Amino acid sequence: MAQTTYDLIVIGEGISGLTCASYAARAGLKVATFESNLFGGLVLNVNELDGYPENRNTSGADLASTLMQSNSNAGVASIQEEITAIRPSGPAFEVATGAGAYAARSAVIASGARLKKLGVPGEREFEGRGVSSCADCDGPMFQNEDVIVVGGGDSALQEALVLAQYCRNVKVVHRGDALRAQQRLAQQARANPKISVIWKSTVAAILGSKMVEGVRIQRTADGKTEETPCAGVFAYIGLEPNAGFAPAAVARDGRGYLITNDGLETAVDGIWAIGAVRAGYGGLLRDAAVEARRVAESVRDRLD
Ligand code: NAP
Repeated sequence: MAQTTYDLIVIGEGISGLTCASYAARAGLKVATFESNLFGGLVLNVNELDGYPENRNTSGADLASTLMQSNSNAGVASIQEEITAIRPSGPAFEVATGAGAYAARSAVIASGARLKKLGVPGEREFEGRGVSSCADCDGPMFQNEDVIVVGGGDSALQEALVLAQYCRNVKVVHRGDALRAQQRLAQQARANPKISVIWKSTVAAILGSKMVEGVRIQRTADGKTEETPCAGVFAYIGLEPNAGFAPAAVARDGRGYLITNDGLETAVDGIWAIGAVRAGYGGLLRDAAVEARRVAESVRDRLD
């Protein structure tokens, strides 16, 4: 039996979710945000956000803290529980967590995405002992060391540039022969003498005894392998959506991202999806903010 009723439940306290909750609360709705991990989402590990908010140098943690504080001031309830299911219940929804159930007249799924793992030997074993996914946090531990970054997208190059501030050499291992990253990051990486790219190659294993001591790099063309010494491995090979709890009736694309219509509503009336969990999300923070605002307005209009 549901105990508490909200106009809107937002699942995820990343930038999308916090921003949506903020607009909805300011429109007079009774709002709760749910988060099972630390608030802030993927940007939490970014020391300097790329062009958002405009004209300000802000870290991801600062932006998230500011939004949390402002939501708290606006009366948004922040609930640290993991959502396990959302079930239609009459004209509303029952949102289940490990600790209880909540009733909501509408729901916004803003649960984001997590970094994909390489899935190679040594990755799990050396997590926190040379294997990392946060260049900003762990970069200083690799002062004058050689490190490997895997991937050819924005994240890989952005983090390679951060690591180059501390490390002796940053080798970017990319499976393709062209970078997917935006021009600006690619140009900065090319201009940085500490960064080089190992093309058409993958990391087949992470090697070491107590700590990471190297990687086995495999060429995609002929499968030949070679061991390269390094002290750290940072993989940024894309994201996968946190959407396991969403009802089966919410359509997914082939990679599990939630499909929405032009109004960012899912196939279930009254459930929207925004940000990195949504198929077609632009990937930039300002895209998240735009989606959050649009959906908060749609929710308000629907409940009027
Ligand atoms: P991404 O754009 O999906 O790039 C993933 C990279 O990893 C690609 O180069 C891909 O290779 C490679 N890859 C995928 N699976 C692999 C595997 N199993 N083994 C080896 N390599 C693999 O992911 P992302 O860079 O994390 O970016 C995610 C989103 O966030 C994007 O929309 C991006 O624009 C956005 N973002 C923006 C910024 C910014 O604006 N500053 C910063 C970070 C991220 P292929 O190229 O061959 O497919």
